[in-house]
Amino acid sequence: MKVGVLGAKGRVGSEICRAVDRATDLRLVAGIGSDDEVDSLALADVVVDFTRPDAVMDNLRWCLGRGLHCVVGTTGFDEARLDEVRGLLADAPGVGVVVAPNFSVGAALMTRFAVMAAPFYESVEIVELHHPDKADAPSGTSRRTAELVAAARREAGLEPVPDATVTALEGARGADVEGIHVHSVRSRGLVAHQEVLLGAAGETLTIRHDSMDRASFVPGVLVAVHAVVARPGLTLGIEELLGLD
Ligand code: NAP
Repeated sequence: MKVGVLGAKGRVGSEICRAVDRATDLRLVAGIGSDDEVDSLALADVVVDFTRPDAVMDNLRWCLGRGLHCVVGTTGFDEARLDEVRGLLADAPGVGVVVAPNFSVGAALMTRFAVMAAPFYESVEIVELHHPDKADAPSGTSRRTAELVAAARREAGLEPVPDATVTALEGARGADVEGIHVHSVRSRGLVAHQEVLLGAAGETLTIRHDSMDRASFVPGVLVAVHAVVARPGLTLGIEELLGLD
């Protein structure tokens, strides 16, 4: 399979280029940086995008307009963006797009475990910790974890998470994502980490995942590259691709 990478000189994109080069069943036909012409991407079967939130939609329009399958790791996908991708896909029958806020297998497992645990605990909060060069907060992974945990709580008929706070400095309780508090830490030395803290009377459960190296995103991206050609339409997250749903 022929693969093109957008953001090929970036921290994650360069890892993906090396991994595609190493894979015996994949061939890197285009590694595109921000100053490069994109024409050679048209040779690819699948395009992987790890660029920037302000560039990714133009990239997707270009790729989907040419019938190229896409695997997208770039963050910043809210519902409006996802709707636009669905619209673009409606005009590109047979074409697949995988958008995942986190391609790490461990992070997908962490989210899955959090959803499994959510119905059993009265309290839950999320702490996400990243390097200080990250532009968005909270992280896409923590938002998605919070949304899925909130849905699991609703389905189980749980009351809102207890919280007696009446006065607080702005931001002290973190962001509120569907009733789940999400706290963002930024520090030099970190890569990408997340804790889901669950609490019930007399016990707590902490589910923690650490990405120490951007190599952790590679296996999930390669799974998506192989899967996307047989999955027309939009696939969100890698959970389904890993058989976790
Ligand atoms: P990075 O090191 O800044 O790399 C981004 C690269 O994209 C840069 O080399 C940049 O070039 C290039 N670029 C920007 N616009 C482009 C365009 N239109 N065409 C081609 N290349 C373009 O960032 P990163 O850490 O690799 O992260 C990239 C994105 O992936 C971010 O949104 C990040 O949050 C996300 N991310 C996702 C996951 C996941 O698992 N889903 C994991 C880690 C990171 P210039 O420097 O010349 O602008």
